[in-house]
This record gives sequence, C-alpha cells and structure tokens, in this order.
Amino acid sequence: MANIIDGKAISAQIKEELKEKVAVMEAEGRQVTLAVIQVGSDPASSVYVGNKKKACAYIGIRSLSYELEEKTTEEELLALIGELNNREDVNGILVQLPLPSHIEEDKIIKAIRPEKDVDGFHPQSVGALCIGQPGFVSCTPAGIIQLLKRSGIEIAGKECVVVGRSNIVGKPMALLLLRENATVTVAHSKTKDLKDVTRRADILVVAVGRPKMITKEYVKEGAVVIDVGIHRNAENKLCGDVDYDDVAPICSAITPVPGGVGPMTIAMLMNNCVESIK
Ligand code: NDP
Repeated sequence: MANIIDGKAISAQIKEELKEKVAVMEAEGRQVTLAVIQVGSDPASSVYVGNKKKACAYIGIRSLSYELEEKTTEEELLALIGELNNREDVNGILVQLPLPSHIEEDKIIKAIRPEKDVDGFHPQSVGALCIGQPGFVSCTPAGIIQLLKRSGIEIAGKECVVVGRSNIVGKPMALLLLRENATVTVAHSKTKDLKDVTRRADILVVAVGRPKMITKEYVKEGAVVIDVGIHRNAENKLCGDVDYDDVAPICSAITPVPGGVGPMTIAMLMNNCVESIK
C-alpha cells in the first residue's frame, strides 16, 4: 500500500516556520502586509478568501480586506490596484479569481506590480520562472514541490508526467519539475494514447479537473501520484482527479483529497507573502 503524503501536516510545518520568521521580522520592526481583493460574493471565493485571511492571522501577517461589489468596474479595480501598488506598507496584493465577466482578468493580473504579485500569475513572474530567474511562483505547483521534497521523494532524473497545461497549475508545474532536473512530459486533452504517456511516469501530477479520471490503468506500479483536482461528488464528499481507492494500492506514494495538495496552496501563498517583504 502507498505512503500517504500528508499535505495537512506538511503545510502546518511550513506555517510554523513562517510564523517564526514573521515574529523575527516583527521584532525588527518589519510588518508583512497582504491586501486581499474580492469582487462580488461568489460563495466558493468567499471561503477561499476567508481561509487566506485566517492563515495570515495565524502567521502574524496583517491582511487588508477589500470586498468590492459585483458591479465594480474594471477602471475602479485598476485604480485600487494602482493605489496598493504605490503603498509602501503593502507587500503583497491578491485578487481572488474568478472575476465577474465584465472585468478582464489578464488586464488585472498585469496591473499588479511583479514585486507584489504573491499569486505568481503576472507574465513577468511566469517569464522569470521560465528562464530560471527569481520571482514569485504559482502557489499550487510550488506547494507540490515542497510536498515531494519534504516527503523525501527524489525529483532529479525522474520521468515526470503532468496531465493538464493550465497557466495556474500545469505549465508552472512542468517548469518547476524541469528546474528540479526531472525529465518532463506535459499531457493535455489532445494527447494521443494518454495511458501510454502517464504509465511512463515515476512521478505523475494530475490537474485535469475531471473527477476520478485517473484509474490504475494510467499508473505505473510504484509511481508517486499527486492529485491536484478538487471536486464535490453527489454525496457532497470531496474527491480528486485520481480514483484514490483504485490507484493507491499500486503506487509508492499518493496525495489524498482532501488533505493533500489543497492545504499546500495556502501555505505557499503565505510563504510568498513573507518573501514579498524582501
Ligand atoms: P483547467 O480546466 O484550467 O485545465 C485542465 C487541463 O486538463 C487542461 O490543460 C486540459 O487540456 C486538460 N484536460 C482536460 N481533460 C482532459 C483529458 N480528458 N485528458 C487529458 N487532459 C485533459 O484546470 P486547472 O489546472 O485550473 O485545475 C485542475 C484541477 O485542479 C481542478 O479540479 C481544480 O479545481 C483543481 N485545482 C486545485 C487547486 C488546489 O489548491 N488543490 C488549485 C488549482 C486548481 P486542454 O488544455 O487541451 O484543454
């Protein structure tokens, strides 16, 4: 049976380390501040924003909350970002996605100064990752690297397959694995013979957004399986993109849903906030 990679425990460990760092900064008179902007009141977004603010409070990061009405215009949002970009007491700016359809997300992401782009979504942050320069990295894939490293799983030289090529997960995941000296393949909806590709993986990262799509036929015996997906099934229970019960018996390590990748995303956001003060 596989080792279960405990994202809850690893994220708690990272938060404790950050708490200590923030306490030292505070003693030196430096306060980390994150501005969190939510437009509209989408219930899922409100839960995510609430969790991020809770994590900030726990670690000792000051969070400034901007809850804007659904009808907020693009110009108004850009004006607020401009103001926060110029505030010296604000280190990080987070705009909760998705935004209402009348606001162009790309424009908003580009408006955040790269030095305050704690989500790591700005084209400059993505470009820096691509060419191996310092910059903020998207939190979910950064969290997966931490999960692997802190579980003692070697990445260098391994065959890694990432299923999914989104800007937020799949692409930065592939770049990070490459940075760690893995041999990386990215698969997507147009990939032919997906099972043949995924069965090559020593480390398989799945971010397809399809509940329980990955069954044991997709997985090589002894592989490490990282499940990024989050879904609620008919019984309101959470599940991932991987059919956990089917796959766990044949792999060497696996992340559960919940309690795997999910908690790491917030831990890495907090890490980026602490880094942003530099
Ligand atoms: P997207 O929908 O943006 O991307 C899905 C990717 O999967 C696309 O690249 C798509 O290919 C590919 N894909 C879809 N169907 C197939 C298929 N049948 N075979 C092969 N590839 C396929 O999703 P995200 O990357 O944003 O998220 C993926 C999952 O991760 C979701 O369940 C999401 O909820 C979850 N998530 C979890 C987070 C966490 O903190 N745990 C954070 C972010 C996301 P193509 O490009 O060709 O369309």
